Amino acid sequence: MTATESHGATTAANGAHPPKSVVIVGAGPVGMFLALKLGKASIDVTVVEKDANFSDAPRACGYYAASALAMHAAGVWDQIRNEGFVIKGLCWRKKPVDNGEGKGGKKLGSMIAAQPLAELDDDVMPPGTGILCLQQPLLTRLFAREALATKHVKLLFGRELTAIEEGESSTTAVTRDTATGEVRRITADFLVGTDGGRSTTRKLLRIPFPGHTWPERLLATNVTVHNTEDPLYHCYYLLDPSNFTVITPLTDPVLGQESLWRYTMAIDPSDPRPDEELLRDENIGKLYEQVMPGARPLQYTIGARSVYRIHQRLASTFRRGRSLLAGDAAHLCNPFGALGLNTGILDAEALTDALIMVLHEGRSLAVLDTYSDERRKVFQFFVDPTSTQNKLRVQNNHQDDAATNDWYFRLLQNPTADVLRAQAQPYFDVWRTDLRKAAENVV
Ligand SMILES: Cc1cc2nc3c(=O)[nH]c(=O)nc-3n(C[C@H](O)[C@H](O)[C@H](O)COP(=O)(O)OP(=O)(O)OC[C@H]3O[C@@H](n4cnc5c(N)ncnc54)[C@H](O)[C@@H]3O)c2cc1C
Repeated sequence: MTATESHGATTAANGAHPPKSVVIVGAGPVGMFLALKLGKASIDVTVVEKDANFSDAPRACGYYAASALAMHAAGVWDQIRNEGFVIKGLCWRKKPVDNGEGKGGKKLGSMIAAQPLAELDDDVMPPGTGILCLQQPLLTRLFAREALATKHVKLLFGRELTAIEEGESSTTAVTRDTATGEVRRITADFLVGTDGGRSTTRKLLRIPFPGHTWPERLLATNVTVHNTEDPLYHCYYLLDPSNFTVITPLTDPVLGQESLWRYTMAIDPSDPRPDEELLRDENIGKLYEQVMPGARPLQYTIGARSVYRIHQRLASTFRRGRSLLAGDAAHLCNPFGALGLNTGILDAEALTDALIMVLHEGRSLAVLDTYSDERRKVFQFFVDPTSTQNKLRVQNNHQDDAATNDWYFRLLQNPTADVLRAQAQPYFDVWRTDLRKAAENVV
């Protein structure tokens, strides 16, 4: 049984709808993870997605302990481990330097600091250690597969949300078929907007999205290269005031073999060139000259590429009536430190608990305000400042004195296990919300 659908210009027949149903707007990774969680709780879900298929844009690829634990709790850890891989930490390096062979080739620059997240000899790496790696398009499809397998989830592509009509005890998503223009209404108990940074849901609900947009654009590229050196930790940052960079593996890298990497490079705000020009092979090649180790001329094959504007923004509420927000629709942060999708997955986990409490356990709608308040606090006190400082750290420190100037790099020089544990603690107990506990006294 799914949410009630009706065609044409009127509301769903008699306003009736089956109990315990949710309509989700947007089949990105957060929408599909939420659908999976709700489907497993026997809540009927209809997901509407405006595009004809899942997005293949080069975006997230690394997930930290808290969301890995959330994926484990959702029963999809083994599947993700099978399709992806886990790396043991991250590091900051100086830019590549001449390799001394007299042919213009470069080798990795020296390490400024390292953040281990698993023991180097840990071959098991249970959920909660290391960084889980799987490209966002693959993760989204995996969540969708698992969601559809619950038999409680229906996924409609080419269907765009255009209006929300809220009733006493239900809400209706007005959707338009993007190919035919046909209007169809889908009525459910609740609607969740997981429709990304430009969220139509958020705009229709007139929820403000205050914050700021950074002046730099980011150029994200997927590239196949031959691995000539081992950077020790396979996710690494390069410090530079203009072209600060993060390099992440997209397939498990093996020394001496080819593998797929993500090179994400900042573009100086004074660069007037339009996105299309930045995306040209010649421009990407010039940036690779600065940041890619290996013999010259460089040998690589560029795959997906995209230019992004980056933001720090938080919706002023994640709930209005029977509509809720989660993921990028609710908050945006720059991708240095990989806090965006991770936070969205943790929203979805908390929101599932809130909806189960309301739909299955008869708790009041005030539990949904607890969801909104708790997840907004997480963004305000953890995600926003942490992602902001992650970006500023690689942009504003000079690579030659960063190891001694920056408190975080100093802390990482010879850290004890206790220091590392204390440093990692907020990534477990601040980031993830125990909604049941937070809503304990909510009536
Ligand atoms: C270069 C880069 C690297 C990143 N790396 C990481 C990382 O390593 N780790 C991490 O945690 N985060 C990372 N992020 C952030 C991450 O990509 C986002 O947080 C993530 O995409 C958010 O997922 P979402 O499902 O909320 O929204 P989206 O992925 O934006 O999905 C929204 C969906 O809603 C659909 N939609 C929009 N409007 C409508 C409508 N009106 N009707 C129906 N459907 C609609 C869209 O078509 C889309 O499919 C990165 C971001 C970038 C740019």
